[in-house]
Amino acid sequence: MGVIGDRTVTGDELITQILEISRLVAKAETADAVLPELVNRARKILIFDNFVLYLKEGHDIQPYFARAVGRGRSKEADVAWGEAVVERIIRADRTISQKDRVGDAEEDRLNLRFYIGTPLKRGKKTIGALILIRFGGPPFTGKEVQKVEFVAGHVAHLLERENLLNTIQKIEGSQRMWRMQEDFVATVSHDLRTPLGFIKGYTTTLLREDTSWDVETYREFLGIIDEEADRLQALIDNLLDSSRLQSGTMQIQFQKVNMDAVLRDLIQRTQLSDLKINIVLDIQGSDLKVKADPMRLGQVFDNLLSNASKYAPGSKVKVKLKEDDHRVHITVKDEGPGIAEEHLEKIFQRFYRVPETKLKERGSGLGLYICREIIQAHGGRIYAESEVGKGTAFHIFLPLDEE
Ligand code: ATP
Ligand code: MG
Repeated sequence: MGVIGDRTVTGDELITQILEISRLVAKAETADAVLPELVNRARKILIFDNFVLYLKEGHDIQPYFARAVGRGRSKEADVAWGEAVVERIIRADRTISQKDRVGDAEEDRLNLRFYIGTPLKRGKKTIGALILIRFGGPPFTGKEVQKVEFVAGHVAHLLERENLLNTIQKIEGSQRMWRMQEDFVATVSHDLRTPLGFIKGYTTTLLREDTSWDVETYREFLGIIDEEADRLQALIDNLLDSSRLQSGTMQIQFQKVNMDAVLRDLIQRTQLSDLKINIVLDIQGSDLKVKADPMRLGQVFDNLLSNASKYAPGSKVKVKLKEDDHRVHITVKDEGPGIAEEHLEKIFQRFYRVPETKLKERGSGLGLYICREIIQAHGGRIYAESEVGKGTAFHIFLPLDEE
């Protein structure tokens, strides 16, 4: 039989309440979420006015959770939460009860306080203490010690699990970071090694003293070396841009630009450097101005056109500019093999490349990531639309500068 307030619970009910506490703690995800409920449950097996948890933090002992539930509730700010006892409990490392009189108890029952406190243990280590306070009596009895220790054991369990979960989360977080860094280094070193391998190989070959090469071979090998050095340069530029974008330090110099002039210029340049590409320019509307960094926009279209040339070889590439609801809408459309639906969003992620094209064409998967970041930095939007077997269209929207 346990005495609870003014009513008596049977042994069965006591067991039920104790099971409820165990169940509550077992299914709890965080301590904070269940401590108030745990206090309510503890009140079913013990009488108390205040429930206070202290935790050790290094050499300090700090209150972690406190709840005033009974008498003195309105005075919770005035009453010293079990500070008087907590040091004693932790030093003694066992359950202690204590009585304090801090004034005239006849006048105010709050002046007569009965404490019971018990250490919270993690294995053999004391991590804090649970203290229950009763104002005006009756004193805690020997029978109640077991119940207090039962509740404290469950609280310690709860805190321990939360601590463990936090530790696991931290470990998982740092493992993820490590994995990402490893992937990054692996991708980058592979991409850097390829052009470097060509440069080294052809240079060593040309320098061999036991063989002489005709002028044509010389020129051909030097051409390859030149091309690979350009590739290396472009890759390093992309890597730098990508890391600047990640750290938010990419410089964008805005100025008023005429979109059709930018596009005409760019396409002329591309056609001179890539003789195989067949670009058709369709400009609708005139004097379409945007606030932009022409160099960064150039980077975007360079990548879209180089992609069209790499992944849709021989296809016509249509570049269209038009005005659309206070925005400029630019489309770069090819009639190549297209991109399957499942890759359409992913191609804008850093290092993502469609598995099938990966083997045929060289690239690092940074281009579209940089494109999207640049367009977004201009307050715009870029996305891809594609039909397998028919072709791919990249749509760019930029706010029109209407001043
Ligand atoms: P990088 O541009 O960094 O040299 P990349 O061209 O592989 O390398 P992205 O420009 O980001 O990288 O393109 C990502 C992937 O999207 C490409 O690897 C390719 O699989 C696919 N892709 C891009 N443009 C097209 C296109 N026009 N047609 C078909 N697939 C495309
Ligand atoms: Mg590309």
